[in-house]
Amino acid sequence: MTPMLRLYNTLTREKAAFAPIDPTNVRMYACGPTVYDAAHIGNARPIIVFDLLFRLLRHLYGPEHVTYARNVTDVDDKINARALERGITIRALTDGTLAQFHKDIRDLGVLMAEDVNRAGAPVRFIEPRATDHIGEMHRLIEGLVAAGHAYVAEGHVLFDVPSMPDYGALSKRPLDEMEAGARVEVAPYKRSPLDFVLWKPSKAGEPSWPSPCGIDAPGRPGWHIECSAMSWKHLGKTFDIHAGGIDLIFPHHENEVAQSRCCFGTDVMANVWLHNGFLQVEGEKMSKSLGNFITIRQVLDDWPGEVVRLNMLKTHYRQPIDWTLRGLEESSRMLDRWYEAAGEAAPDAAVPGGVVEALGDDLNTPAAIGELHRLAGSDAGALKAGAGLMGFLPTTKAQREAERVGAAGIDVARVEALIAERKAARAAKDWAASDRVRDALTALGVSVKDNKDGTTTWTVAG
Ligand SMILES: [Zn+2]
Repeated sequence: MTPMLRLYNTLTREKAAFAPIDPTNVRMYACGPTVYDAAHIGNARPIIVFDLLFRLLRHLYGPEHVTYARNVTDVDDKINARALERGITIRALTDGTLAQFHKDIRDLGVLMAEDVNRAGAPVRFIEPRATDHIGEMHRLIEGLVAAGHAYVAEGHVLFDVPSMPDYGALSKRPLDEMEAGARVEVAPYKRSPLDFVLWKPSKAGEPSWPSPCGIDAPGRPGWHIECSAMSWKHLGKTFDIHAGGIDLIFPHHENEVAQSRCCFGTDVMANVWLHNGFLQVEGEKMSKSLGNFITIRQVLDDWPGEVVRLNMLKTHYRQPIDWTLRGLEESSRMLDRWYEAAGEAAPDAAVPGGVVEALGDDLNTPAAIGELHRLAGSDAGALKAGAGLMGFLPTTKAQREAERVGAAGIDVARVEALIAERKAARAAKDWAASDRVRDALTALGVSVKDNKDGTTTWTVAG
């Protein structure tokens, strides 16, 4: 039976049934981070959304039948500038930033290479770095020149946009609009203002490699060629899904399509193109000048990663998302309720159909979360299984409580002793003493609940 999955495809502007080229190796690519600075909360959105898609594909086709490549851009103007500014090498900057990025996204419940790849089995999650693929870029660039789709000019290699009759099919922008946008980058060596850089000379102090096409001076790749090279190497000339943020449709994805299709003579690069919507903060566009620029780490300092993940997935991935404190508080309460309902239950072997169906409908996460909410009132095992598919409830209620106690640095023996003291004071009707003990517990960050059966339980406050 073919698993039911429908995806909205930017290429066709339609939602259609997903049919992989090879169901035993479903291949997806997502544009990953440019590692020059701490990732912000807007960067977290595609990472979380396409992690969920990866999990769903693994569920539908089998974990051994899905390959996911999410690249790392480690050569870029911003990287060069930042390394210079900080007085460190480019490699030190990109390694350090990538290590922080990994720490951030692991806390967001994102599947990592070590969770997915098994010794002796084919590699199913790849995080290729641009600078490890210069050879593939050379081959693509030389292939494009040989096919008459690129030309050499003043140490640059440029893609010849007018040589591709259906350039612009992904973004569907009118030619005059693209030309107006491209005019910002007018250069004397360009034949058409739309032509874009595949390779360019390195300036002094910039990283450089031997150039392709017989160019003497060393140089470095343009941005778009990286993704054509990495997706080709790891997924093939054509593959199933290419994903990224909506801001990448033009020019980045349009140019990736142009490079790959014109080099390989194929009708498509990827069959399905997925794009996630924008993120704004408290109703405003996030920007450094507005002072509402939040890194993933800053959010994680205040909220558990699971709350952040839920807050991101509560909005459908194609809709714009408004990141608010109120939303985070609501997500936190929702998770508390799920943990309470799941208790110590083991997940059911089968994931509940309602959750799979909702996700299969173009990743309808609001509907899937609604389904989890319904199950929280009725079926703990099904709730655990459904939540598990989406990367939620990785622990039981008791484990989570123990983790929270550990994270808050609470002395459990001291809390238990105070609770016993409070019990004795109340038995002796010494209300002043009882109030003093309650204040001491509050000061420790603990909230106490007296149950109907006469027992007292406590949790980490707020
Ligand atoms: Zn890309």
